[in-house]
Amino acid sequence: MSKIKLAIYLSAGCAGCEMALVDLSEKLIDALENIEIVWWTPTVVDLKYKDLENLEDKSIDVALVDGAVRLSEQEHVIKILRQKTKVLVAFGACAAMGGVPGLANFHKREELLETAYINTWSTDNPDGVLPQTEYDVNGSKLTLPEFYGEVKALHQVVDVDYFIGGCPPHHDHVAVAVEAIIKGELPPKGSWITSGK
Ligand code: SF4
Repeated sequence: MSKIKLAIYLSAGCAGCEMALVDLSEKLIDALENIEIVWWTPTVVDLKYKDLENLEDKSIDVALVDGAVRLSEQEHVIKILRQKTKVLVAFGACAAMGGVPGLANFHKREELLETAYINTWSTDNPDGVLPQTEYDVNGSKLTLPEFYGEVKALHQVVDVDYFIGGCPPHHDHVAVAVEAIIKGELPPKGSWITSGK
């Protein structure tokens, strides 16, 4: 039996969800007999975005996305991931509902940038320079991702097949999800996967 191809992408989050995967400890090691991690960015199997773009459509069996969507770069990667993946999972509270980064939606984009880059006591920024999306570096144009005006959950950007809640998800939920993926016994599309505990 060929191994299940798994991709993991950390979007606007803290990587705590990925620690929940690692918390599976020996269960994760057992699962790797059936799972091949083909892309885990930006931590473990850190291939370039180009490598993802070059994969055949739907050649990844399952992708876990942890973290919400705050930057144009994240939305871009997630849309490519959706194209390349059969089953896309919103992994953890940030991806599923916006989570902690989503609390920033109580404030305007400008307020957030001014707090982070001007008003904090430790900031030395007398000219009040805020991040831009375009810079001229030695005559070359450098374009950086756009900081969106609001944080979005994964399903607000692409079609999502499954949701796993928790901040981070309890490793029991993660174990149930991994087992369902390996056995091909995933619940109906759109379900939340939990251990029932
Ligand atoms: Fe971190 Fe919690 Fe978001 Fe996971 S759900 S990325 S643990 S803040």
